[in-house]
Amino acid sequence: MTKSSPKDSEKEGDDWHQFSNAGYSSASADFDNEEITEQQNTEEEWFDGDDFEFEGKTIDWNSPPCPTPLGIAHMIKIGTCNHCLQRVSGKREMSGAQIRNEAYTRDISLESSFDELLCPLCENLFDDVDNIVERIIEKIDNLEYSTIQIGIHLPKDLIQESHEITSRHGASQSMPLKNSMVLAIQNKINHNLGTDINFVKDRPDIMVLVDGLTLRVDVDIRPIYFYGRYKKLSREIPQTRWPCRACKGRYNDCESCQGTGLQYIDSVQDLIGEPLRHTLNAKDTSFHGMGREDIDVRMLGTGRPFVIEIKKPMNRLPEMAEIVNEINKNAAGKIEIDNLKKTERSLIAQIKNSRSDKSYTIRFKISEKIEEEIIIKSISDLSGIELDQETPRRVSHRRADKIRKRKIIEINNILIDGNEIQFSIRAEAGTYIKELVHSDEGRTKPSVSEKLGVECEILWLDVNQIHDDEENKDN
Ligand SMILES: [Zn+2]
Ligand SMILES: [Zn+2]
Repeated sequence: MTKSSPKDSEKEGDDWHQFSNAGYSSASADFDNEEITEQQNTEEEWFDGDDFEFEGKTIDWNSPPCPTPLGIAHMIKIGTCNHCLQRVSGKREMSGAQIRNEAYTRDISLESSFDELLCPLCENLFDDVDNIVERIIEKIDNLEYSTIQIGIHLPKDLIQESHEITSRHGASQSMPLKNSMVLAIQNKINHNLGTDINFVKDRPDIMVLVDGLTLRVDVDIRPIYFYGRYKKLSREIPQTRWPCRACKGRYNDCESCQGTGLQYIDSVQDLIGEPLRHTLNAKDTSFHGMGREDIDVRMLGTGRPFVIEIKKPMNRLPEMAEIVNEINKNAAGKIEIDNLKKTERSLIAQIKNSRSDKSYTIRFKISEKIEEEIIIKSISDLSGIELDQETPRRVSHRRADKIRKRKIIEINNILIDGNEIQFSIRAEAGTYIKELVHSDEGRTKPSVSEKLGVECEILWLDVNQIHDDEENKDN
């Protein structure tokens, strides 16, 4: 690539910026759509006459297109390079050099019919393949991957030019410049590495973005997602990492967090994520649970489904059983996971949207003695009813106030021990169980406190089961 006006570089620079900052899916959509859009946008401007000036030569639009001998001869006359000859001549089974030699055999005068100028179809872009591939290999050399996607960004005017000439003189099954360039890069990578890399067009492990103008190579290591279920055996651990309230995670000289930047040293996210991050040599993690429990609530039963996202992992082929063991060993007494399975990003939305019932056990203290029979009857009466729950005070600074209807599916195992009461409950997703008991100053109706006519102080709450088995049996 040698030809570009300052205005073009500026424009392309902007495009590159957008392109490299786009999310993966939109970036790949850009590759696929770009040529089509450009063709549409420029049709008017380009189909304006029969004569086309290129480097001072007038091209004869009346010659028949490739793969006719006249068409190929025309391509050679305008200075088409061997790479482009192969992609537009309709003889892809032959190399560019073979196609050229065949044409020279037919008409020896062709050989001296053109000056060795820039190929009008690629501006000698293919000369840069070696250089580009060298840069790519340097950047992916220390990475683990099983799939790679290559994307290339080319100046719009070059794509237009190439497309114009090809659509008039090339064979109907010509390969577009971008595809051809990507293929050349892929072949060269395989050749240089002596491998057979699985190049994909979707969901790669490694996304390589090449700027055809500056030859800049950016490598984007795509995240890995693992699905699992965690049990939380402690009442002192939040689900996700909490920045220190005093220093907002800014570490320096903070007495409150002793420089850790964390409000709680442990979190489910880090107890699972940190061993993964170290093993996979990754930058960071992000944790997506199927709902969450309060810090002081245990998560028992078969655990809570989650997806953990490992960002920018340099390794991605870990020994899973070993990592699971390590996680459970480090987190003994705090959390436990059953296993970890590789999954896709789409599962995050799926578990976030889950509306599974949940079962709990709650224990609380009443302010006055009440007869056992009355207690059992009052609490049993709540089984099967629908609650009106206003957003609890403890979360109302985060969520808009509204009244929600939530169904209590079943209450059982009511135990009474002096002024302490305990029961098990299955409720619809999103039911606030502590509020059901203490009433949250009347914001939950009805409530255990209201039914008993006394104040209830929560002692503890456990989640016993998340009933997602029907919904997520495929996971
Ligand atoms: Zn070319
Ligand atoms: Zn702090």
